[in-house]
Amino acid sequence: MFCVDPRNIAHSMICLCTPQTSGPERSLQERQKQHMARGLPKQKPIAGVKQVIVVASGKGGVGKSTTAVNLALGLTANDPSKTVGILDADVYGPSVPKLMSLKGNPELTDNNLMRPLMNFGIPCMSMGFLVEDVAPIVWRGLMVMSAIEKLLRQVDWGLLDYLVIDMPPGTGDVQLSITQNVPIAGAVIVSTPQDIALLDARRGAEMFRKVNVPVLGIVQNMSVFQCPKCNHQTHIFGADGARALADTLGVQVLGDIPLHLSIREMSDRGQPVVVSSPDSPEAEAYRKVATAVVQRLEELSG
Ligand code: ADP
Repeated sequence: MFCVDPRNIAHSMICLCTPQTSGPERSLQERQKQHMARGLPKQKPIAGVKQVIVVASGKGGVGKSTTAVNLALGLTANDPSKTVGILDADVYGPSVPKLMSLKGNPELTDNNLMRPLMNFGIPCMSMGFLVEDVAPIVWRGLMVMSAIEKLLRQVDWGLLDYLVIDMPPGTGDVQLSITQNVPIAGAVIVSTPQDIALLDARRGAEMFRKVNVPVLGIVQNMSVFQCPKCNHQTHIFGADGARALADTLGVQVLGDIPLHLSIREMSDRGQPVVVSSPDSPEAEAYRKVATAVVQRLEELSG
């Protein structure tokens, strides 16, 4: 069994970024023409994966990764016969290693595929397993694409009913590249009820629509704060913004996740609430989202 040497990954990405030939004989314009001639990449399923669910948000810090992880765990908690994996596509700031309490380099299979790291019964793959410290790396556009391509195609997932992809925030090249490369069963948009987050969420939803990815619905995160002492509920960011946005976009609200100290604390410890406090209302909220996601997927396929 071999382990992936992060330097090889970095090297092969650099090779992919370096133009094959340069100089006056092959101008930038010619190369661009060739790119255009090749057209859009063909969508190809990920080997062994039945349905891909992407979890996206218009901006960072709204709880997208926390939702992605707890959604994946909620899918198996609701139906233990289902196999679920997590792909952390947030190459700029991967948080799945921390949220799932995983560390280390993936082993390579005999077919030279990376074997996902596993915790709580969920196989996970993340850029965070391949490079020591992602943040200081100056990622150029094509390097990022090359990294994404590896994460999508060079992983041995085994057989999965659902692969949950934690997307980077926003509507950039990575999101477009993923939606163009693999068939996606549906997108879950995470937003807080703040106006600004909602505007960004709307942009995200519209991007998925443009590339024909069904938007399964919106998860309204941190909509209500329940005081642990007196149980008083406060709508810190407003009560029903996501609901209004969902109505405007003609999609469902898949669930409301409360702003709760234990969600933050457990996430920081790498113990997502769905597994660490399965009987809590917070875990129940994530499981409800998982139920709504499966229902929407069944409606779409039926
Ligand atoms: P994103 O992926 O959108 O950048 P994260 O999932 O990393 O956001 O969450 C950002 C921070 O907010 C983390 O510290 C996380 O623990 C916390 N957080 C997310 N959702 C909740 C919630 N419902 N209640 C309390 N804290 C939350």
